[in-house]
Amino acid sequence: MIIQKTSNSRIQNLDKDNISFGSTFIDHMLVCEYENGKWGEVRIMPYGSFSFSPAMMCLNYGQACFEGMKAYKDQKGQVFLFRPEKNFERINKSAKRLAMPEVTREMFVEGLKALVDIDRAWIPQGEGFSLYIRPLIFATEEALMARESNKYMFAIIASPAKAYYSAPVSVLISDYYSRAANGGIGFAKAAGNYAAAFYPTQLANEAGYEQIIWTDDATHGYFEESGTMNVFVRVEDTIYTPPVSERILDGITRDSFIELAKRRGMEVVVDKIPVQFVINAHKEGTLKEIWGVGTAVVSNRFKAMGYKGERLTLPLLSDEESYAENLKKELIGIQSNQQEDPFGWRVLVEEGVAHK
Ligand SMILES: *Cc1c(COP(=O)(O)O)cnc(C)c1O
Repeated sequence: MIIQKTSNSRIQNLDKDNISFGSTFIDHMLVCEYENGKWGEVRIMPYGSFSFSPAMMCLNYGQACFEGMKAYKDQKGQVFLFRPEKNFERINKSAKRLAMPEVTREMFVEGLKALVDIDRAWIPQGEGFSLYIRPLIFATEEALMARESNKYMFAIIASPAKAYYSAPVSVLISDYYSRAANGGIGFAKAAGNYAAAFYPTQLANEAGYEQIIWTDDATHGYFEESGTMNVFVRVEDTIYTPPVSERILDGITRDSFIELAKRRGMEVVVDKIPVQFVINAHKEGTLKEIWGVGTAVVSNRFKAMGYKGERLTLPLLSDEESYAENLKKELIGIQSNQQEDPFGWRVLVEEGVAHK
């Protein structure tokens, strides 16, 4: 690993209480280039821009995927990653599906630890603060040929994030557009999956909804995901979530919520969720809450859902009554070392690890 430190730190500009998510970056980034069939040396260098050709293949053919994860600082200043092996496995699943080279554990996990260690001062301390980390792989060959690229870049960038209250959102149940299809790339964190979701989301916004509940492409009869999050439905005191599949991304927050709920003795059913089941539960008054989960906001409750021209209002439970809020609190407690970690999910970033 080559480490080239900046002589021009920007950290004095960091205003912890006025961070806008994803637009301030730490002093350094990690990069590694792939050429002639192999990855080169991992470099940690000052954060900055690259110059690329408009013929760069990722721009033309969309060969790009990424991860989203966080690092947390506890009250003593110790820094932790959360289940980084899961992100490592997932980026390689995405890479494989997009015909891109897989990255090594050394590049991903060890590189990540070194980068976070070097810029640990950028991780804000305090309840709910974190460092949002974005590893990505993209095709860099300059060639207008519709085939997989011969050159790639792996990069890790990171952005300090504050605790933000995510107000309950209204969602539109999709009866036409689909996020994913069997045989497609829905399980991969492909950049193009996001591009494909923006237009239907704009239409939902125009109809008065903030997000879309994606349903299965074949029948639009089953809940799949919510925006870019996995979805949970609570009817009475049972929690339902669909199984991950070719179309449903294997979210690490989803998996963590299931484990936490089970440990608390809550009833969790991992099975297909018919839209009609949710609509009926709403009619009968047994639908208690619906929420989405993902790394960025952890969980976000719904206040209303649109279905076939009707707007159905959901009850708003108090934070104490809400499973979504209770599980979120527990998960953040584990992530930020305020709570015991019975699952071994936290990974300490040792001080000075970058120089070992
Ligand atoms: C990233 C992502 C999620 C959430 O995954 P986490 O690992 O929990 O952050 C869910 N659905 C989609 C489509 C995603 O891209």
